[in-house]
Amino acid sequence: MPVKFIVVLGSIMSGLGKGVVASSIMKILDMYGFRVLPIKFDGYLNYDCGTMNPYRHGEVFVLDDKGEVDMDFGTYERFLNRSLTSSSSITGGKLFGGIIEKERKGEYLGEDVQVIPHLTNDIQGKVKSFAEKNKLDFVVIEVGGTVGDIENGYFIEAMRQLSLKEEVIFIDVTYVPRLKTVGEQKSKPTQSAFRALMGMGIIPNFLICRTDGEMSDSIKKKLAMFTSLDESRVINDPDMDSPYQLPQYLIDQDFDRILLQAFNLRNKKIKSERLEKWKKNVDKITSKDGKAVIIAVVGKYIELKDSYVSVKEALMHAAGKLSINLDIKWVESELLEKSDSLILLQGINGLVVPGGFGKRGVEGIINAIEYARKNSIPYLGLCLGMQLMAVEFARNVCNLKRANSTEFDPHTKYNIIDILPSQLSVKQKGGTMRLGAWDMLINDKKSIAFSSYHKKVVSERHRHRYELNNKFRKVLEKNGLKITATTKDNKLAEIIEWSSGFGIATQAHPELKSRIESPAPLFLSFLNAAKNNS
Ligand code: GLN
Repeated sequence: MPVKFIVVLGSIMSGLGKGVVASSIMKILDMYGFRVLPIKFDGYLNYDCGTMNPYRHGEVFVLDDKGEVDMDFGTYERFLNRSLTSSSSITGGKLFGGIIEKERKGEYLGEDVQVIPHLTNDIQGKVKSFAEKNKLDFVVIEVGGTVGDIENGYFIEAMRQLSLKEEVIFIDVTYVPRLKTVGEQKSKPTQSAFRALMGMGIIPNFLICRTDGEMSDSIKKKLAMFTSLDESRVINDPDMDSPYQLPQYLIDQDFDRILLQAFNLRNKKIKSERLEKWKKNVDKITSKDGKAVIIAVVGKYIELKDSYVSVKEALMHAAGKLSINLDIKWVESELLEKSDSLILLQGINGLVVPGGFGKRGVEGIINAIEYARKNSIPYLGLCLGMQLMAVEFARNVCNLKRANSTEFDPHTKYNIIDILPSQLSVKQKGGTMRLGAWDMLINDKKSIAFSSYHKKVVSERHRHRYELNNKFRKVLEKNGLKITATTKDNKLAEIIEWSSGFGIATQAHPELKSRIESPAPLFLSFLNAAKNNS
């Protein structure tokens, strides 16, 4: 079957959940047994997300192959239950960088290099060779940003050109607001958005309408009429308890059948056992039975929830699997720097400290970890959460006053956490951290690590420049901190544990590999311990 392309665009405003729509479409196609993978276009001129501030852009997602990509990749992987590669990420920075490099080499001698045709041809070439290389039936292409942005205009134009030669379906994810004062849903913004797209030479084949509550029939009819689309192609996408409910919701509207028909694919059947399995997992995640287990996530970027999406998702996956009624309490670490502020943590059943960079709020995190250790509250530390677990232990158990990471105090006498030797020669900031999937060796069969993973060699994704300083391994271990996993050459500590109570932290980011269908082992053990502590 020749490859088919589905282009997902967004109208009116960002934050509508295009990534969830693209992921749901992929999941549905996957349930039919098609080979499908995503491509994400991002118009920004950064090469990748690695140098962006999580406070502004949300979480930086890391792939096995070291790619630092947009957080939508987390959504794709969690839905598809498959690890993706950086070749799915096409940014303005990568494209322009590549074109300029070719121009300097003389590959366009005699020509004036232009957005059309050079850049737009380049984009189409990349998309097609991606499909070929992966032997795909479908590529789902998400165009970042909103229709009308200057930044993504050349991507949209490239897709228009692609549609002249290939089988392409355009889906516009749009917003149908409800005006509170009149209590009525409004179609006008979508009508204008549709016209804007037509002005770019694109007629969307489907509208997926984000609404609060179901879209009324009259609005659906009106939209169909103004956009010349059959009503069955105006799809409802109301706010839901969980994004994982969207595939089923789309199927209930017959979207899958109509989409496949649009590609002239009839008589295909969804593999019902796959759908049933998915539904079961989603039901488990959304049901909220039993006593709540309260997990505090103490971090530096709490104000923007998108900074910790994967941590939140990993907690939810594990809670679903264990049938735990999860209640996440988000605590900004700076707030915990005042002496009476630990009251914010009262009543919690477990503490998670996620990753982060820079000094702000670090002392508040250390206070939180000390509180958890002293009150036997289960603790899970992720990257920065491991580094600060070691610092807290050094200060308060080993009595190494003002122990710290040199990231936060370059002159500390006790540099428990120090820059990785491999980082000393690094001059460029982009793409130079210790990144991607690395194996670790679990060395203690009685550890929490081993009882979580049930094997000795495990692979997790990383993103850091600092590490536990080996000079201090002895003193930490002598005082009861266990190093239960290291790199295979034993040069880097990968997992540390308290010797009593439940406290475990890793230099890795296991949250990045947690999927609804395969929750992260450390999150499962942690939530189990938190449940027993509730
Ligand atoms: N800032 C720390 C480092 O670079 C931790 C990084 C993280 O939490 N991802 O090592």
